[in-house]
Amino acid sequence: MKIYNTLKRQMEEIVPLENNHVRMYTCGPTVYDYAHIGNFRAYVFEDLLRRYLKYCGYRVTHVMNLTDVDDKTIKGSLQAKVSLDEYTRKYKDAFFGDLKTLNIESAEHYPAATAHIPEMIVLIARLVEKGYAYRSDDGSVYFSIGKFKDYGKLAHLDMSGLRAGARVVQDEYEKENVADFALWKAAVDSDGDVAWDSPWGRGRPGWHIECSAMSMKYLGESFDIHTGGIDNIFPHHEDEIAQSEAATGKPFVKYWMHCAHLVVDGRKMSKSLGNFFTLRDVLSRGYSGREVRYVLVSAQYSQTLNFSFDALNGARASLSRIDEFKERLKETAGSVERVKNSLPAWAEKAKQEFKVALDNDLNMPEALATLFGMIHEGNKVLNSGAVVGEEACTVLHLLTEFDHVLGFLEKGGGEADAIVKRLVEERQAARKAKNWAESDRIRDELAKLGWEIKDTPQGPKLRKL
Ligand code: AMP
Ligand code: ZN
Repeated sequence: MKIYNTLKRQMEEIVPLENNHVRMYTCGPTVYDYAHIGNFRAYVFEDLLRRYLKYCGYRVTHVMNLTDVDDKTIKGSLQAKVSLDEYTRKYKDAFFGDLKTLNIESAEHYPAATAHIPEMIVLIARLVEKGYAYRSDDGSVYFSIGKFKDYGKLAHLDMSGLRAGARVVQDEYEKENVADFALWKAAVDSDGDVAWDSPWGRGRPGWHIECSAMSMKYLGESFDIHTGGIDNIFPHHEDEIAQSEAATGKPFVKYWMHCAHLVVDGRKMSKSLGNFFTLRDVLSRGYSGREVRYVLVSAQYSQTLNFSFDALNGARASLSRIDEFKERLKETAGSVERVKNSLPAWAEKAKQEFKVALDNDLNMPEALATLFGMIHEGNKVLNSGAVVGEEACTVLHLLTEFDHVLGFLEKGGGEADAIVKRLVEERQAARKAKNWAESDRIRDELAKLGWEIKDTPQGPKLRKL
């Protein structure tokens, strides 16, 4: 399988460092709010990648972190007057519910930043000891980018203009170079009680160090694939490379893969621009997780994708063509459950082309063209009555195989139910904690999804509105 490696700026064959085992790391969500479907474009792309690697026969160990301490999570918890843990738990739960709705497979590990502070401190201490990092007067620790000669290799930056050692005093921090970045942030009043002890004083980790510490803990000092959206390339991933390679002296990651943005009217979907939809927003308009997944996964991951409700309507039409074809095959198969050794020629051709397309940097538009080409041919043969039960059963089997990669061929059915069930549980937890405002908010949200909730002595009861 060939992929585009951002580090080398070229297509490369994936050859894992360990025989037949691919270790990959994904920058996960900051759990301060619900993720929007732009974020899910990145997670769906990573899901496609891990599913396809497994389809090719690799064992995959996939790690996705949860950023549960940063400026936004702290601010949110202070505003909500709840502990950081309680505040982020709600969004962690929501995130996992959304992953299910989108049929995204579980990663092998979901480490949370707050559970790995000791690992981060050890890594920072290594960098200080080796002279790559320094403590400033206020008790923060910075990485000195001038000391790491390869800085800029991922984002292809020309660093010659940056004078290391030119001391810059900024409003908040004292850094030796304006581009140096924080590994450890000294505690400040606005952080409330969110702080940990460290050799440099009380404080909290910077964002970048968390991904270096957690990826290396679960995947080793060198591993195969690191993914994220293109906005992560600089500075986040550049900084991860600098910290990790400076500490270990070894190459950090072999292949860097980045997905392009989901945009709305040409602008990146983002919280800050306010042009975003959460998954709940889209579901409440009557679309399913399956349809959202189809839209997000069907474009080439490295190309910008424009989000629109028209695209969701298109997905609905494409999915019903697939469903109809499967129904016809099921009817033809009848009670036959035997699978033949070989596929009919039109399906065998599709099987080969499907692999060729995905081997080429996960070319989904081509893979889907193959799938719909096969449906077209298959329908013609079904019309002529030339398909017998065993053959139909064998093609259905092939579709199941394809679905291990695509994750949208099966009618989900339970998708809306999953999110509704989770909301009911969240509301029960809020009621138990006597958090009536939250309980009301969830009731309103359920109403938006088309459900009325009534509390009875036997527990909550749902009624479709
Ligand atoms: P964040 O929570 O902002 O760190 O983002 C989580 C993941 O979503 C990262 O991999 C980002 O690169 C990715 N991401 C954020 N916005 C978009 C977007 N509009 N399209 C695609 N990926 C995005
Ligand atoms: Zn990261």
